[in-house]
Formats: sequence, structure tokens, C-alpha cells
Amino acid sequence: MHIAIVGAGFTGLTAAYYLQKQGHTATIFEKDVKPGGLAMGFQKKGWDWPLEKHYHHIFTSDNDIRNLASEIGVSFRFSRPNTSAFIDGQILQLDSPLKLLQFSKLSISERLRMASVLVYLKYISSWQRIEKYTAHDWLQKYLGRVPYGTLWEPLLIGKFGPYYKDISLSWFWARIKARTTQLGYPNGGFQHFADILAQKIVDYGGSIQYQAQVEEIGETFLTVNHQRIQADAVLVTVPNRVFMTLAQTLPGEYTDKLQSFKGIGAVNMIMECDHPFLPDHVY
Ligand SMILES: Cc1cc2nc3c(=O)[nH]c(=O)nc-3n(C[C@H](O)[C@H](O)[C@H](O)COP(=O)(O)OP(=O)(O)OC[C@H]3O[C@@H](n4cnc5c(N)ncnc54)[C@H](O)[C@@H]3O)c2cc1C
Repeated sequence: MHIAIVGAGFTGLTAAYYLQKQGHTATIFEKDVKPGGLAMGFQKKGWDWPLEKHYHHIFTSDNDIRNLASEIGVSFRFSRPNTSAFIDGQILQLDSPLKLLQFSKLSISERLRMASVLVYLKYISSWQRIEKYTAHDWLQKYLGRVPYGTLWEPLLIGKFGPYYKDISLSWFWARIKARTTQLGYPNGGFQHFADILAQKIVDYGGSIQYQAQVEEIGETFLTVNHQRIQADAVLVTVPNRVFMTLAQTLPGEYTDKLQSFKGIGAVNMIMECDHPFLPDHVY
């Protein structure tokens, strides 16, 4: 099959790589000048490696991406930065059971209660069971108002703004379940990872077209830079809202579903400092 893929972020690249390996022909259309999407890097003069426009890392438990990386010869370095909470002007390390038990902003009984709740979440194996609860209601109930308000509520507000009370407990569970104290970063940066993956796709006979703005998507065709391109199937990796504007003929029921997802923009500021911004390798 000839499969047209919209977007050379990690989803499009990974799909193209495995499709090529299975004997299909994949062509990626990417509007940018290079691969990587949200994990794309930029490199200033004098830097050894590019840096991501948006901070990125993986956990030791991210086995799929680790397997893919090792298959294509990209190595990861893992280190254990301190993950800390900034409360009342103090930086307090909080990334292990021991650090939680030493966490001075909560009473001993609150710390023990929080530890039990986090252990409980860590050992639940299925997110489906807890999907019906919101993180806000559930955590408030089981941790207590003060511990929740001291630690987790500000983080949820910081991440989700006005939507923070709607976030499912299964989202929070995934943070606790998958998170590892060690964080991984590809040698050469995520841009290097994307570049190698893109090269492998080409080596396997696929192709990637850059500065290829997809303007319209149909079931078996695309319009790219005003040209119509046929394919046996089209795989789209752009955000839902972009997809809806590009694919005008989607069934109403399906677009209703896509529309029901809310999205929040993220702006990252990158500072180049003479000294570490936070002390003691705090992440
Ligand atoms: C601030 C931030 C931090 C993150 N940190 C992490 C992290 O630490 N670890 C982690 O695992 N994940 C992290 N993520 C999530 C991760 O970046 C995404 O899950 C992943 O990059 C999504 O890849 P994608 O290929 O699905 O989409 P994208 O990367 O968005 O790729 C979509 C591609 O489609 C292209 N495109 C869009 N419209 C068109 C068009 N009309 N025609 C042609 N091409 C088009 C875009 O240019 C883009 O290259 C983070 C995300 C953000 C925003």
C-alpha cells in the first residue's frame, strides 16, 4: 500500500518507519523544514547539540521509544535530577518515598496518608477503573484538603488552568504509575533522534517531503502545495482542530467527537544563563 502521512513529528516518523519495514510505501508531507514536530530542536552557534524548543525527556519505563531508539542506533543517557516542589519560597525535594516522609510542609499523618494513596495508585494496573473520577475530587477526598491544596492542586492549575477540575484521575494515575526518578535524554538531543529516524525511513525506501503544506485531506488523496496526490490510505498526525479544517468531508459524528477535545496552548521561554537557574540539579 502507498500511505501518505501528514506530519513528520515523532508519530508520523514512527508510523512511516514501521510501515516501510512491513513492506508498505510511506510518504510523509511536512510543512516545516525538518522533522521532529513538537520535539524539534534548534542550535545556536557554538553549541555541540541542538536544544528542543519545548523541554523533553523520557522515563526509564518508556519502553517503546527506547526500543525504537536502540533499533536505529540512538543512545539515551539517563540521570537522576532532583524533582522538587517550590512552596513558600522554599525548594523542597519530593521525588522518592523517603523525601515524601521528610516533607516538612505536611504533618506526619498527612505524609503517611499521601504515601499510602500514591502507593495505591502506583499499584493499580488499569486506568479504566478510575477514569470516571476527576483527579481534583478524588485526591481532595483521599489526601485531605490541605495536602492536596499544598502540593497537587497548584500543579494541576499550573498545567491545566481553568480546566483543572475536569482532569480525569486516570491522567494523574499515569503520571504516578509511569514516572521514574531517572530521566532519559537522547545523546545528540531529540532533533538528532528525529534526523536519524527520518534517514532510516529514506534508507528503507520511504520519502519525506519538507515545506509540503497539506491543504486538504480526503480518504485517499491529499492536496499539497496546490497539487493533488493520490494514496491508498492517509494517516494524519496533526492536532484535531487542524485535521478538521483540512478534512472537510469527515462524518459529522466523528467531527463532533474531535471537537469535544479541548486543547490548551503552551508557550515555552528558553533562558540562556551564566549560572544554573535552580540549585542542586533541581529539575
Ligand atoms: C511543552 C511540551 C513538553 C513536552 N514534553 C514531553 C516530554 O518530556 N516527554 C514526552 O514524551 N512528550 C512530551 N511532550 C509531548 C510530545 O512533544 C508529543 O507527544 C509529540 O511530540 C507529538 O508528536 P506528534 O508527531 O504526534 O505531533 P507533532 O509533533 O505536533 O507533529 C505534527 C507535525 O505535523 C506538521 N503539520 C501540521 N500541520 C501540517 C500541515 N497542514 N501540513 C503538513 N504538515 C503539518 C507539524 O509541523 C508537525 O511537524 C511535550 C509537549 C509539549 C508541548
